[in-house]
Amino acid sequence: MQTTFSLTQLADPQVYSAEKILRACVHCGFCNATCPTYVLLGDELDGPRGRIYLIKDMLEHERPATREVVKHIDRCLSCLSCMTTCPSGVHYMHLVDHAREHIEKTYKRPLFDRAIRALLARVLTDPALFRLAAVAGWIAKPLAPLLRALRFDTRLAGAGAQLFWEAALCLPIRRAGWRLVYDPAIAVEHHVEPRSDGDQLHRGVFASAALADATHNETLVLLENRGRGARAAFLAWALLVGTHHEPGLAQLPRLVLRGDRHAVARWRAALEGRLRGWRRWRTELSRPAAAQLPPPPAR
Ligand code: SF4
Ligand code: SF4
Repeated sequence: MQTTFSLTQLADPQVYSAEKILRACVHCGFCNATCPTYVLLGDELDGPRGRIYLIKDMLEHERPATREVVKHIDRCLSCLSCMTTCPSGVHYMHLVDHAREHIEKTYKRPLFDRAIRALLARVLTDPALFRLAAVAGWIAKPLAPLLRALRFDTRLAGAGAQLFWEAALCLPIRRAGWRLVYDPAIAVEHHVEPRSDGDQLHRGVFASAALADATHNETLVLLENRGRGARAAFLAWALLVGTHHEPGLAQLPRLVLRGDRHAVARWRAALEGRLRGWRRWRTELSRPAAAQLPPPPAR
């Protein structure tokens, strides 16, 4: 492979050795056949030959690593399988190590990536911490089937925020027989920033669609996860009484008397949401969500 490193660049021993490796490559692509990431993804840039080109370009032009380059180099497993099929004896191992050093110097990873990497570097290199992590994993093992089965309920309505998602997450867990423990030391601060979505309920701004979505979610989740008696009580309360925000019939005159100009619209939106939730629950009766959650291990 032809390279165009300047003499100044080649004065750096690392670059000098990288250049020697690059020049040995004859672009034949035999290495791709034994590269697991190329076989899996079928992208030239996820094979050794493509990575070699990316590394060459980055080093030759002294470019900071880009997100795209980092993605393809990160996907390399360093299994070195490619070196076993290279007819030219290209020392890919040293080249990719050099590229990784360059990436660490010139690329700022997203915060989550940095946190995970720092955590792994800390835990994997400390035998005591590693043992602790292994014990924690062993203790948490019975939770694995539950965590795998838990999903955000995509039936919940709402632009941006889907109100009552906490109930949709927790009630099926309870219904499957698990015990939920709330840590009183954890404080949740609500409404620290204005929401950019359709949920105006908690800002004191009336929005009929947002109210209908919220009552739909509440109705669906409660009907799905409560027993027959509780369901009947909930429906009677929701339709006949309700709250200031989600009024039932009895709240309507009260809101009118208090001068709420949205009283009727509020009541209608709440009613519409309740009916939508009830209909959804009726149509989904044949496949209740909680049935997918595994029961807790026997004590
Ligand atoms: S080290 Fe493994 S994953 Fe990386 S390029 Fe070579 S064969 Fe592919
Ligand atoms: S097999 Fe060797 S020479 Fe051929 S492209 Fe891969 S690294 Fe280059």
